[in-house]
Amino acid sequence: ASFAHCMLKRTLLCLRCVPVCSVPSNSRVMMLLGQLERMNGDIVRQAETARQVTAKILHLIQTQEKSGKEVMSKGSSGMEVILASLENTRDVQTILNILSILTELLTVGRGRRVGVFVSKGGTGILFHTLLSASKEMPPSEELMLQLHSLLAKVGPKDRKFGVAARLSGALNVTVNLIKQNLQNPKLLLPCLQVLRVYSTNSVNAISLGKNGVVELLFKVLAPYSKKNTSLLKVALDALGALLKSKTNARRAADGGYVPILLALYADWHRNDARHRHMLIRKGLLVCLRNITNIKLGRKAFVEADGMRVLYNSSTECLPVRTLDPLVNTSSLIMRKCFPKKRLPLPTIQSAFLFQLPYVPGTGPAGRTYSQGPGVDDVVDESDDNDEADTENDTENEEDEKDQQSPNDDIETDLNKLHPKKGPCRPYEELRVYERFFVELSEDFQVSQVSVLIRRSPPRPIIVPTAQAFSPNTRSLSRAYTRTPSCPDHREGPGARAGGRIVGRSGRSAASRRGGGAHRGETRRRQRDQADPLAAAFGGFVRATLGRRGSNWSSDCGSEGPEDEAAEGAVLEVPDTALLLPLHDLDLYVEMVKGTLSVPQYAEVAYPDYFGHVAPTFREPLLERVYGVQRAKIFQDIERLIHPNDIVDKVVYDLDIPSCPVIEDDGESLKFNSQFESGNLRKAVQVRKFEYDLVLNSDINSNHYHQWFYFEVSGMKVGTTYRFNIINCEKSNSQFNYGMQALMYSVQEAISGSPRWVRTGTDICYYKNHFARSSIAAGGLKGKSYYTLTFSINFKHKDDVCYFAYHYPYTYSTLKMHLSKLEALRTPQIYLRQDVLCETLGGNGCPLLTITAMPESNSNDHICQFRNRPLIFLSARVHPGETNASWVMKGTLEFLMGSSPLANSLRESYIFKIVPMLNPDGVINGNHRCSLSGEDLNRQCLLQYLAHIQRAPLVFCDYHGHSRKKNVFMYGCSVKETVWQSNISATSSDLQEDLAYRALPKILSQIAPAFSMASCSFVVERSKESTARVVVWREIGVQRSYTMESTLCGCDQGKYKGLQIGTRELEEMGAQFCVALLRLKRLTGLRNHQHLLDLESDIIGSQAKVVSCPTTYVLDEDEPSFLEAIDYSAESNDEDVEAENEHAAEVRTYLSM
Ligand SMILES: [Zn+2]
Repeated sequence: ASFAHCMLKRTLLCLRCVPVCSVPSNSRVMMLLGQLERMNGDIVRQAETARQVTAKILHLIQTQEKSGKEVMSKGSSGMEVILASLENTRDVQTILNILSILTELLTVGRGRRVGVFVSKGGTGILFHTLLSASKEMPPSEELMLQLHSLLAKVGPKDRKFGVAARLSGALNVTVNLIKQNLQNPKLLLPCLQVLRVYSTNSVNAISLGKNGVVELLFKVLAPYSKKNTSLLKVALDALGALLKSKTNARRAADGGYVPILLALYADWHRNDARHRHMLIRKGLLVCLRNITNIKLGRKAFVEADGMRVLYNSSTECLPVRTLDPLVNTSSLIMRKCFPKKRLPLPTIQSAFLFQLPYVPGTGPAGRTYSQGPGVDDVVDESDDNDEADTENDTENEEDEKDQQSPNDDIETDLNKLHPKKGPCRPYEELRVYERFFVELSEDFQVSQVSVLIRRSPPRPIIVPTAQAFSPNTRSLSRAYTRTPSCPDHREGPGARAGGRIVGRSGRSAASRRGGGAHRGETRRRQRDQADPLAAAFGGFVRATLGRRGSNWSSDCGSEGPEDEAAEGAVLEVPDTALLLPLHDLDLYVEMVKGTLSVPQYAEVAYPDYFGHVAPTFREPLLERVYGVQRAKIFQDIERLIHPNDIVDKVVYDLDIPSCPVIEDDGESLKFNSQFESGNLRKAVQVRKFEYDLVLNSDINSNHYHQWFYFEVSGMKVGTTYRFNIINCEKSNSQFNYGMQALMYSVQEAISGSPRWVRTGTDICYYKNHFARSSIAAGGLKGKSYYTLTFSINFKHKDDVCYFAYHYPYTYSTLKMHLSKLEALRTPQIYLRQDVLCETLGGNGCPLLTITAMPESNSNDHICQFRNRPLIFLSARVHPGETNASWVMKGTLEFLMGSSPLANSLRESYIFKIVPMLNPDGVINGNHRCSLSGEDLNRQCLLQYLAHIQRAPLVFCDYHGHSRKKNVFMYGCSVKETVWQSNISATSSDLQEDLAYRALPKILSQIAPAFSMASCSFVVERSKESTARVVVWREIGVQRSYTMESTLCGCDQGKYKGLQIGTRELEEMGAQFCVALLRLKRLTGLRNHQHLLDLESDIIGSQAKVVSCPTTYVLDEDEPSFLEAIDYSAESNDEDVEAENEHAAEVRTYLSM
């Protein structure tokens, strides 16, 4: 009441300052209003006149459109007069007249007029009137009807409506009216309409719930009937709003209303055959949806057989497209209520454990170690609704994350935006890196050859910061000799799936979790196996070939009995020598022997062995078929509805020592992934032709699943198989936007088409019913997993097929490519391969130095040689981003090429390249982690360079991006960060040239896959520890980039609409080189048209930057340097980078 009183005062105040009747005097309606206004002070005594005047006004407004316009026109005080009269009068007839006037006025041009009404305090006056009227005994039904109709009209437009209703006491008035008029639909309808608006306020909802309104509304609900449907609809809306409150939802669940709602839904579904009452059916579902937001509600739903009720009704609705909203909401409820399951694993930690010599206290590895077994996979069923999915979480869900207030993450601390020069490590520690830069001191006076073929330092270096690690003294440069010998096993793809075998008996299960194998022991064993391994490979290869038509040279001729099972077809090793100049089958096997994996893989996957010849046909982005996700989800729900179809047979399981153990009954596919980069952990045959696949966690971690690589065999032709990878972790994927998985058929390969092809239909990616506990999620709330599902029709019987997330690129492949590249070296090329460090797994991490030999050993030439700017490139810090390796391959091949461009590029720069920063992660099939999570060596190298004042001109870390299309770069710019964040900065803070934009700009002009529009040069706080930002800030490299290549495809340029392949990726890597050459011209030449073009381009795009939002880097896209960055240790501010000279040149030129 006090609130209404305030409103009243305010209105009167308003009235006082409004000039009396500022309207044309010739207007009849305005004259009447003037009359009314004059009466206002004494309206109670002049009741009869007021009644007449208001009746006349009503008549005018009802009959003449212009009268209404005049009252509502700007400058008119008509509304004030009407409201003041309403406020002051006690006469029921006058009030009714005024309410009718308002109803007439507000029905026309509603939005604006209601706005005016609200702004003049109309709502408060209505509540005041409502309260006064409710005190009459009995209250006038007509008045209550009118008031509620008007409130229902006004309420949705008044933001403070809910609060005002509560404070004025109107809630109770309406609720009492509803209670007393359950059998009086005429009055009930407007009251429910108002209640619906009240209920959208969460405080009101709770208060109404306490007053029994939930139960009250259930009295209004009724089975199918053609009568009073609008009443039912409104009641359901109000109930749905009330049930958003968890207290009310609990009340409804406790009160046993869930079965009632289900029964009502089933009844309406059954009887509403012509779908006239979609909204009522939807309203019932919304109530169920809101109740099932709480655990109790989900329980009640399942107990009431809700899954079956909604499943059956939805299936019947599916053919009618207009019923989609019902199907979608049903599907949402069913997904929510589907009993949460833990993954079918003993522990979600990796099946393999690699004993670290030193366990870091924090980070993923540390957390894994500190967890006892068994605590990690308890499903956390908190009452919070952690899946507060909205309704658009159905078809066409967009990536919500991209829209999350991105500005929060922009670095706004100007101090942090300014490069801090000077490394934090003392020079004494960095000095050890000198050996990686022999070229900077080389004098070429002695035998050059001996210098150049040195491949690794005599002893592996000890990383200065990793003192905790035991010094590793094993040299990587071992001599491998391939010993051709007779095979022990001979099996073809037809004979035994996954036939390359070998050494399986020798493979110890000790490295599996719990086995606790020691690293040294592992190595010894690995070495001991070298010979049987070679033997076995020989066997494998020949077996693969079959007996006839083999062009395999090494041969022993003995035949085993298994051969007879092979198909009689002529099988040949694909002759890829011409198409794949860097591939060599023998060499690959050789390389595999030197690759050390934690699980001690002894098999080679066919695709890596045969190689991949990029197909010449186009592979367009897959068009998403309408309803795919829904159909897949329904199939998942059917697991509960039709349990008889469920086979639930484990066909592959790394967690049991004798894996894989299945008796071959011909009814199941066979799986395998015990080879380099493979990571399948478990395969469960769910239904006859459907398999749930679980990926292994990264070693020493309990998550990061996305990458996959496994082998399938034993397939039938003419059958559609469905595969579900059920423990993916990213919240969305390009698999929802046209990306297909990759498949490699061995049958195709041996018949001349060795290649990965994009494949699979009915692809989608969605949140599933598997969950993990908050502990396992690293202290966060319990998280759900996501399913990637795809369907396959195999073309060949007895094929062996491989599936992968992206084109695999193993560590052994890298070594093979490097070895072949080395063979391309001419006397003009300076190529050195160092081992940057040996990984914990015992594998060398190569560092390449590529440049041109000095023209002669004259002082001038040596000087020119040493002073070439450095280009620093790296890739594969994230093992799952294999596309980065293909880009890197393109770069390396170009650099080692014989073209004049390659030549002048080598003469211009010294390239320092770490092509695979995380060999262990790649080998062991990890998605993101290395064995220890250390990434120090690259940073130390760069710090060393900063120290000797040779910071690189360009730093670029190659990555793969799973959520965006095209290839693009992230860079660092103070200016663009400042623009984006709107922080005030003085112009001196904005002294920055545009050098950082030149390289991406050039790339966008010459590389078809590259998109400038996707680039971002904003420094984000969350990206503070990425290589890009650290190298920019700490090493002072202005052109410091992350280059992201899509895993999916392009939506612009020449490849628009196509999925990306290795050809395009390699081209990207080559174009990167060409761009560097152009950059050189740009920084070197004084008068070049290119520069002018570029300048205008840059200016053009600069203007664009301000207006269009830059893309933001998502958490997982860039890696962190795992070492904490210590900003307090700033030293040597006077360190100047070599590249500044070049930057200065551009700056000078651009300002000319
Ligand atoms: Zn990455």
